[in-house]
Amino acid sequence: MLLRLYELAVVLKEVPMSTKSHNVWSRVGLAPEQRLRWLLNFGSLDSDSLAGPERSAVVEEVRAFVSVQQADPAIRNQMRSWPPPKDGNPELMTRHEVWSAQAWLKRGIDLLRRSEKWNFRPQIKYELDAYNDMFWARMWADSGLELFKALAYDALRDARYKVRRCPECKRPFVPVRRQRYCSLRCSQTVRTRNWRKAHPEKIKEIRRLQYRRMVSVRSRANLSKLPGSSRKGVKGHKLR
Ligand SMILES: [Zn+2]
Repeated sequence: MLLRLYELAVVLKEVPMSTKSHNVWSRVGLAPEQRLRWLLNFGSLDSDSLAGPERSAVVEEVRAFVSVQQADPAIRNQMRSWPPPKDGNPELMTRHEVWSAQAWLKRGIDLLRRSEKWNFRPQIKYELDAYNDMFWARMWADSGLELFKALAYDALRDARYKVRRCPECKRPFVPVRRQRYCSLRCSQTVRTRNWRKAHPEKIKEIRRLQYRRMVSVRSRANLSKLPGSSRKGVKGHKLR
């Protein structure tokens, strides 16, 4: 039971991105490992199942990811106190770009899941500059999507040794401590399967009870269809 509670605690920590913290920078993660965990979770989202506020939270997280990923590692820890990325800023990714990025990432994760190679060539330009005796390194892209691809590659490369594959569904994920499976769903599937294997006689008993219940429901339904059985009552009621 202790183990189960521990597993549950681990899973609860990694489940919905948007309920973790009110601070978007903390949700995305200021350390490379946390940020890669966020990125893989973002790529595994089922975007159609998200409600409006959840979708807005994800858009805000993607914009924060782009900023953190481009920031100098020395200032990343200060970003926690920054205001969240503001809607309407023309430099931010549009909502449409965010969901294109999600679909692109999802396809890539699926390739890794099937042990296939994921090749891509983002359309970006690197720029180095020694302005004002300071050394600057920048990235330019014509679209937010292309910039996102380059930054996602950096995030994957920086923390790639932290990535594990789920033994159940093969999805890549960054575990929290000794977390074994990518999600609560996968660990529950394995637990149910093991329990079934260990208790075949209980499974037979459950099936027998289900069958009996189904038969009795059907025979009751057939009885009620017999002529006169329910109509009689209605007629009697009207006569009174
Ligand atoms: Zn899994």
